[in-house]
Amino acid sequence: MASNITKLKAVDSLKQVKPVNRTKTKSAIASPVSSTQRIVASITTAISERRLRPGTKLSEQTIADLFKVSRTLVRQALNQLSRDQLVVLEPSRGAFVAMPSAQESREVFDMRRVLESDLTRKLCPIITHAQIAELRAHLRAEKETLAHPNVAGRTHILGDFHVVLAMMLGNTVLTKMLSELLTRSSLIALMYQSTLSATESQEEHVAIVDAFEARDVKTAVRLTLKHLDHLEATLRLDPFAPDLSQVLRV
Ligand SMILES: [Zn+2]
Repeated sequence: MASNITKLKAVDSLKQVKPVNRTKTKSAIASPVSSTQRIVASITTAISERRLRPGTKLSEQTIADLFKVSRTLVRQALNQLSRDQLVVLEPSRGAFVAMPSAQESREVFDMRRVLESDLTRKLCPIITHAQIAELRAHLRAEKETLAHPNVAGRTHILGDFHVVLAMMLGNTVLTKMLSELLTRSSLIALMYQSTLSATESQEEHVAIVDAFEARDVKTAVRLTLKHLDHLEATLRLDPFAPDLSQVLRV
């Protein structure tokens, strides 16, 4: 079967990688954010905000110039991003933003279903009033962002909802894994042209929080899975491959 990789327009996207400012803190204990981590954070954010598109070449020299660091540090950052499967390193060609295959995309959603249904099942019975209030505040922020024409920020805050839930459970491993899966989900949504509107997504978040507030574990899990199924179903993961026996039936 021929691969169905959409010819993606190479945007002049490296300009989109804005260096994240070094965290300024008075505390002597707080460790400074290393250059490598700043590059990793900037590229990850640019991907999750859909400013960097799948397949974009990430030139070591350009990034080194942008961040005013050596190419060795850039290489370290790209290596880390490749371990997170956000970047692909190709021998003698360089680094590119990953282009998840349809199969990988299905795997990402499978994992999200496993992790997020378990998260909901555990968090729902123990969620506090303060956390519900925090979720309501997040939903209000989502709604405000929807009113803005800034699509990038919109995607980011909608994805954040899922990470906020993971943080509330207090499981740092889960939070990290889910953050990575969500960033990959942004790449997937770009690759396979998600048609789920941000408004629909936001409404589904509201229904999930309502179930959390009612401490209705069964409904919360069902709505979480429905939301993820909906997200996956609106991707065009199936290449146009008509069943010849149907098409050519005489
Ligand atoms: Zn969502």
